[in-house]
Amino acid sequence: MKKAIIVMTGILLMSTLAIAETEAGKKESVEIPNLEQLQKMIARFAPTEVSADTSKLSPEDQKAVVKLIQAARVLDDLYMTQLWKGNQALCARLKKDTSPLGRARLHYFWINKGPWSDLDDHKAFIPAVPARKPLGANFYPEDMTKEEFESWVKTLNEKERELATGFYSLIQRKAANKLAAVPYSVEYRADLDRAAKLLREAGSLTQNASLKKFLNSRAAAFLSNDYYQSDVDWMDLEAAIDITIGPYETYTDELFGYRAAFEAYVHVRDEAESNKLAFFAKHLQEIENNLPIEPKYRNPKIGGLAPIHVVNEIFAAGDGNHGVQTAAYNLPNDERVVAEKGSKRVMMKNVQEAKFKSVLLPISQHVLAPEAQKDVSFDAFFTHIVAHELTHGLGPQQINVSGRKTTVRLELKEVYGAIEEAKADVTGLFTLQYLLDQGQRVGIAEDRPKEEIERKLYTTFLASAFRTLRFGITEAHGRGMAMQMNYLLDKGGFAVQPDGTFAVDFSKIKQAVRDLDHDLLTLEATGDYAGAKKMLTELAVLRPETQRALDKLGDIPTDIEPKFVTAEKLAPASAGLPRKR
Ligand code: ZN
Repeated sequence: MKKAIIVMTGILLMSTLAIAETEAGKKESVEIPNLEQLQKMIARFAPTEVSADTSKLSPEDQKAVVKLIQAARVLDDLYMTQLWKGNQALCARLKKDTSPLGRARLHYFWINKGPWSDLDDHKAFIPAVPARKPLGANFYPEDMTKEEFESWVKTLNEKERELATGFYSLIQRKAANKLAAVPYSVEYRADLDRAAKLLREAGSLTQNASLKKFLNSRAAAFLSNDYYQSDVDWMDLEAAIDITIGPYETYTDELFGYRAAFEAYVHVRDEAESNKLAFFAKHLQEIENNLPIEPKYRNPKIGGLAPIHVVNEIFAAGDGNHGVQTAAYNLPNDERVVAEKGSKRVMMKNVQEAKFKSVLLPISQHVLAPEAQKDVSFDAFFTHIVAHELTHGLGPQQINVSGRKTTVRLELKEVYGAIEEAKADVTGLFTLQYLLDQGQRVGIAEDRPKEEIERKLYTTFLASAFRTLRFGITEAHGRGMAMQMNYLLDKGGFAVQPDGTFAVDFSKIKQAVRDLDHDLLTLEATGDYAGAKKMLTELAVLRPETQRALDKLGDIPTDIEPKFVTAEKLAPASAGLPRKR
């Protein structure tokens, strides 16, 4: 699953009134942006090149990757159909409008893969469409209510119910207006046939056995509607080409969250980062044994870690490419597969780098003291993200509260997310500092003196804190970050300058991070819900000096609009398969 992102969008003035149709067919007036307003909305996405080096792939894999990009393009179409039944016709209509407003509408349509703006609560930005994205997308009849669905499901036998509430079917009205569940393999047969054929062709090209196996079983799943074996094979995938393709996330179905939307990611593995991960993994127990908490709370034998793949994205499609770009995901979502095989985290290094360049660097120029700006580094940013992911696996997990066996998650309840995200941030910093103190290299400016590496680590973290806070403090990451920021300010590790910019105090930051890590880990070890709640209530707030810094970030893009230059070179969209429209 992706982490939900809550986006602060500022105030958009939309003065043009237009009448749009709501789901129930009632007329509701929504304001449709004019050209100038639409251009401002588009400018929130900085066009940024996303490229990946495919030259080290074997000649067979280089051919296979072309087929995979083509298959991903099929899923782009399929996702648009899943989002809204009128999408394909609307897209064709928009393409014919060559006026500046028509061009802007088509541009923003491509960013969102539909006529509703992801960043603005899915409100329509094109006239004559439903005012807001239908909650059930195109997965249910538009006139169906929740109650009708629920009472219908009660009439079904177990097997029918499984299909009706499962990931891989949609609901339509059939004879006598009765609801019926239709498997994806039936409804999307033509597109899935094309995609399956391309996957099999790629499978016959590659020499990698695990990739061949996954591509063939996923192609079979497209036609049989049974994804279990191919999800298992995806967990076993170890290849230079890293691909995720199929129906996965259920966020598009806002009505019930049952139906999986089609998406595809075509990646190449990042070898250097894979080696770095292996290096960190070797030191994790040692870091656990040195965590800044009472020794009795340390875990003498940390559990197996969920696999992490660091990749570079060649192409993303469908549900994987609209609005704010996905930079990492955990899959699969099928609990049966997770119970048997666990899940895998995939992190896209070049997507993170694109966001770093187009969003984080400009942010740092506004919020950091001038002399600190040279220390903002992508390697420090990315290495800390990797450390964050790994250190979710460190510290207390199964705990004992007054003789009762329980887990941190159960004890901390609704504040668990914010505390655990903050713990991973801070334990990530602690881990990198620990390794540096041991004389290890961590992948940040390795040829430079230790003080410089530390400067980069903490300064980049400070800049990235503002990127997270910008998304608001209602969600776990933002809440946890506001708490860290204020704690470190209070301990003097971060300091506000007279001109309102922020800087790291290197004489205090290391101890401040140790103290914070100690406090967070101890809250988790003791399952101290009241303590965790108190800490968040006091510290997970935006203080005036932080708010003033955030106010300066208005014009900086929210995210990127990826330009997939490698994919466009290898398998141009125009030269691809004829698109059915
Ligand atoms: Zn996390």
